[in-house]
Amino acid sequence: MEKILNYINGELIEPSSKIYIENIDPSCGKAYSLVPDSCADDVNEAVKSAKVAYSFWSKTTKQERSDILNKLADAIEENFDMLVAAESRDNGKPLSLAAKVDIPRASANLRFFAGAILHDSSDVHEMDGEAINYTLRVPIGVAACISPWNLPLYLLTWKIAPALATGNTVVAKPSEITPMTAYLLSKICKEINFPKGVLNIVHGRGEKLGDALTTHQDVPIVSFTGGSDTGKHISKITAPYFKKLSLELGGKNPNIIFDDCDFDKAVSTASRAAFTNQGQICLCGSRVFVQNKIYEKFKSALVDKAKKLIVGDPKSSNSHLGAVVSEEHMNKILLKINEAKKLGGILLCGGERLILEGELKNGYYIQPTVFENLAYDCSINNEEIFGPVVTLIPFESEDDVIMMANSSEFGLSASIFTKDISRGHRVAAKIDSGVIWINTWLLRDLRIPFGGMKNSGVGREGGFNSLKFFTEPKNICVKI
Ligand code: NDP
Repeated sequence: MEKILNYINGELIEPSSKIYIENIDPSCGKAYSLVPDSCADDVNEAVKSAKVAYSFWSKTTKQERSDILNKLADAIEENFDMLVAAESRDNGKPLSLAAKVDIPRASANLRFFAGAILHDSSDVHEMDGEAINYTLRVPIGVAACISPWNLPLYLLTWKIAPALATGNTVVAKPSEITPMTAYLLSKICKEINFPKGVLNIVHGRGEKLGDALTTHQDVPIVSFTGGSDTGKHISKITAPYFKKLSLELGGKNPNIIFDDCDFDKAVSTASRAAFTNQGQICLCGSRVFVQNKIYEKFKSALVDKAKKLIVGDPKSSNSHLGAVVSEEHMNKILLKINEAKKLGGILLCGGERLILEGELKNGYYIQPTVFENLAYDCSINNEEIFGPVVTLIPFESEDDVIMMANSSEFGLSASIFTKDISRGHRVAAKIDSGVIWINTWLLRDLRIPFGGMKNSGVGREGGFNSLKFFTEPKNICVKI
């Protein structure tokens, strides 16, 4: 079985313990590679290497860093097919999704920040002829970039690109559940002579090595994307060290369908928002609020659509959904489905594990699932399930739906469907979410501030916000 290796100081190396964990292909439930079970010693080596590299990388010009990031983006594009196949196999997502979204976004992230760093500007505050203040933005040091399993290379590059573009060096920790494309990226880095120590990747279990990384005295900045409980833990243990922290966490996003919407578009977008990537996107719309007048019609159209979705072999171009990421995660989703039934939820479609044939019979497949008759404030409508499960909730008025949408402890994203654009603006202004779409979903402009309110996170990344996060502002006041 192929052994995934850590990437430290430009070298692909074994974990110090020589202990590995099996990496499972979720489409068939079989181990197909081995992931390092790294520990604090490996983290310390990676941080040491990043600290040494910081002394030269932080002095490179913006143009030099931009060129190197673009070179890495070129190499990702040259290895496109290999990365697409690897992402699909490691995560269980359809090959078509990895080809359309994950891998193109990985190179786009690098190119975006390679460009942004050249076009950034900083503030000047003029004091009526007495003095001029200007702000320098300087890199901070070694950045810890911790990313989850749902969009592995996409979210890893979303963090490392701005960190490196601004002159920091990085120790990245991908999810141990989906380590493969991060490993392939490190192999690519080696091939293109990426400067040694600037990017380091340590694989392993977050619970074992996470604290060593986030509390390391030589790591002043931590960018984390993952679950809210892990975010809470990181926030707590790093607090005494006054680190710069960005947390992009979970969501339980409302999808609000008014009766004057473009009906067909609202149905197809709600289905996409519910089931893309098997519902494992933090931005998925898992609470679908539908205005009373069109509730029954919308319900039957959405259920009809969900029933027609093909759950199957991620490699097949016919599959709309592949496998969920792991057996543990599949069981967690199935437990939530049972809980929804116990709470009186009416199952409109799905609700079961799907057993495919042949090689795939032990894979982790779940049917697209739609519930109704669950109170807006019950546990199912408040906890993130992170699977292909949505609930339909009827509403009467704008005020009702705003109250219900905002009742969640999360506040990541929301979608609103209406042809009345004034209403769209009015409702959007009252919804407590960091990202709100009107008449669409997941339309991403890399320049926008991205992040959540309430338990969905702290801080914003994206565009110039990322460049700000990964730099320290230094004000200089010049007396005239
Ligand atoms: P987790 O919080 O379990 O893990 C995220 C990352 O943190 C993984 O690399 C994990 O490693 C690592 N980790 C775990 N424990 C620690 C620790 N003590 N210290 C440091 N790192 C640690 O999330 P999932 O991987 O399960 O991802 C799903 C979650 O991510 C969902 O809640 C989803 O909403 C959220 N998410 C949020 C996004 C956003 O932009 N707001 C985008 C995408 C996902 P390991 O896996 O090896 O344990």
